[in-house]
Amino acid sequence: MYKAPRGTSDILPQEQAYWKYIEEKAAYLCQLYGFQPVATPIFEDSQLFARTISGGTDIVDKEMYIFEDRSGQKLALRAEGTAPVCRAYLEHGLFNLSQPVKLYYIGPAFRYERPQAGRYRQHHQFGVEAIGSADPALDAEVIELAQRFLLSLGLSRFYIHLNSIGCNLCQPNYIEALQHHYSGYRAHLCPDCQTRLLKNPLRLLDCKKASCQKAAETAPKILDFLCPECQSHFQSVQQYLKTLGIPFKLNHRLVRGLDYYTRTVFEVVPQKEGAQSALLGGGRYDNLIEQLGGKPTPAVGFASGIERLILNLKEEKANTPPLPKPVACIAYLGEEAKNEAIKLASELRQAGIAVIKTTGDKSLKGQLRQANSLGTNYAIIIGEREVRAQSAILRDMMNNKQKIVPLSEITAALSQ
Ligand code: AMP
Repeated sequence: MYKAPRGTSDILPQEQAYWKYIEEKAAYLCQLYGFQPVATPIFEDSQLFARTISGGTDIVDKEMYIFEDRSGQKLALRAEGTAPVCRAYLEHGLFNLSQPVKLYYIGPAFRYERPQAGRYRQHHQFGVEAIGSADPALDAEVIELAQRFLLSLGLSRFYIHLNSIGCNLCQPNYIEALQHHYSGYRAHLCPDCQTRLLKNPLRLLDCKKASCQKAAETAPKILDFLCPECQSHFQSVQQYLKTLGIPFKLNHRLVRGLDYYTRTVFEVVPQKEGAQSALLGGGRYDNLIEQLGGKPTPAVGFASGIERLILNLKEEKANTPPLPKPVACIAYLGEEAKNEAIKLASELRQAGIAVIKTTGDKSLKGQLRQANSLGTNYAIIIGEREVRAQSAILRDMMNNKQKIVPLSEITAALSQ
């Protein structure tokens, strides 16, 4: 027997209600905030991710799904959504539109991770990108959208963590200080952090391993190193968040996993003790478009993992509306009745009434059992006698009361 590959899952109908719910809320809010939908391919030139996310990150060093196609081109399954959207922004000249260009997407991302609850090799992200403005009010707007999105889903037990990681001018001084500080702890650091110390020092702060906590606790803080422009930008972001009444926690250890972030970074984490898995993460990436060959273009966005949202919705026992059920199940006895049942099902569906028609030659009892298990409100039963009278038995499955209704009046009866 084949199984879904490790770290991937089938999304069966009973789970789909969550997906539809989340996707509809996302689309509704994006429309309110002026974000338009965009879709990019599932695979891209592998360099798109390798260059933008950069070496020294787990995604590029260990997690990308890379393959060669038949022409020998090196491709990668989409590892995250931001670089592809920026590639599309440049490729289609969206910089010619009025800025910022505000886009959102919902789609799968692939990372070769060690699968565990809330961490998969194929997961799905809802993400927004606002490209073409450095205004700190846009950072606040994107964070507000993130908060509204989670609240509108029915999630409430989360914190918004906020930090600024500076820009090309001030970050290098901080990284030097960080490297200097961590060098004193080199012997105690985990093997990953030994590598980070050389290749990606900012990520040192992100390490959750016990061996690295002492160094992290006493590490210099980036906020003390910000240049005046970054300081003023970060002050404004905080001021606008206060204006909007959005609570946040400053977290000087928040650096995010991807290298292209500048200035504002934020993450939304569940309040649950020990929960380490972010519901959502984002920030500014003012250098990314330039890195891809465009003009310097500031931008800000976030992405949220849909599987993680569903885990949290279940944990918080949030009410999600069920998928709509069929209204009626049509049962029949005999070949002539089957013919009428086929016709009736077609007419009802034409009228926009969702029905299930049983199949095969089950007994009437078997067919009614099916109606029960489908949870339909009504069963419509057609036997030989009903065919002759051109009528059907309409049974209310809630109270088991039934009446005879002419076939020509069933649609009207169910429409009520
Ligand atoms: P990132 O692109 O790493 O910033 O991730 C954005 C969001 O996607 C995270 O906040 C998570 O909600 C979700 N996410 C990231 N990686 C995974 C994964 N392997 N499995 C499930 N969700 C993930």
